[in-house]
Amino acid sequence: MNSLNYTGRLAPSPTGLLHLGHAATFWTAYQRAQQHNGTLLLRNEDLDPQRSKQEYVDAMIEDLTWLGIEWTPPVITQSKRIPLYREAFERLLSTGHAYACTCSRKDLAQMIAAPHEDTDDEPVYSGRCRPAKGTPPQAFQPNMNYRFRIPDEETISFTDLNLGPQSFTAGKDFGDFLIWRKDDLPSYQLACVVDDAETHITEVVRGSDLLKSTARQILLQRALALPAVDYFHTPLLRDEHGVRLAKRHDALALRTLRQQGHSPEDVVRMFST
Ligand code: GLU
Repeated sequence: MNSLNYTGRLAPSPTGLLHLGHAATFWTAYQRAQQHNGTLLLRNEDLDPQRSKQEYVDAMIEDLTWLGIEWTPPVITQSKRIPLYREAFERLLSTGHAYACTCSRKDLAQMIAAPHEDTDDEPVYSGRCRPAKGTPPQAFQPNMNYRFRIPDEETISFTDLNLGPQSFTAGKDFGDFLIWRKDDLPSYQLACVVDDAETHITEVVRGSDLLKSTARQILLQRALALPAVDYFHTPLLRDEHGVRLAKRHDALALRTLRQQGHSPEDVVRMFST
C-alpha cells in the first residue's frame, strides 16, 4: 500500500450502544476519508473482557450501516490480534521501556487527581514500582501489570488538524501508563498504536477526550520505531445540561432515535447544527 494514501479508521468499543456523540465523530471520520478519496477501516476494540459484548458489536455494525457510513471490510477485531500486541510489549520490555507494577487498585486510587469528566485523565502514576535508572531490563513474569516508562518532564507537541497546536508534559499531564495487564491483555494505548501502524493508518479521527492519549501514543510510536500519524480530534457533544454525551445517555442511542422514526439525515442534522 502506498503510505501517501489516506487511510482512516473507526474504532468503537463494543461496550454499549452507539449514541449521537459517536455518530458525530464517526461521520467526521467518514467525511474525511471520502474527501481524501481514501480508505476507512472498522476496528472492533473488544479488549475489555468484562464490558465487551457481541450484541454491541452487531449493534454498532448495524447502526453505522443505517447511518450511511461505509468502510472497507474485513472488520478488524482486536481480541483476535493478541500476538501482535504481545510482540510489541516484549520489545518494550526488553528495551527497558516497560516495567512490572504491583500496585493495587487502592494504591492507585490514592495517587490523587480525580478523573476529569472531559478527558481520559487517570491519576499520574507516582513511580512507586519504577526501577531506578540504569537497572537492566526486566524479564516477563505472568500475572503482573506492566507500565510504560515516560521520559520525565518531556513536552510532547503535535498539531491537531482540527484543534491546532497541542502540548502535554510527561510526568505532569500523565504518568507511566499501563501497556500490559495482569489478565494477559494489552492496554488500549498499546493495542491502538500497534493497530494504527499495522493497518497503515495515516490519520486518526476521534473525540477530543483522547487528546492526552495521543501524547501517550506518540511516545509509544517512538519507542517502537513506528511511523507517526496525523490527528483530527472532534469536539465532544453535550446534552442540554452541558453534560458530555456518554453511553449512559440511552435516549440518544442511534437505535432509539431510529425507533422513534428519525431518518439517518435527521441524525446527521442533529450533530451538524
Ligand atoms: N475505542 C475507543 C473509544 O471508543 C476509541 C479509540 C480511538 O479512536 O483511538 O473510546
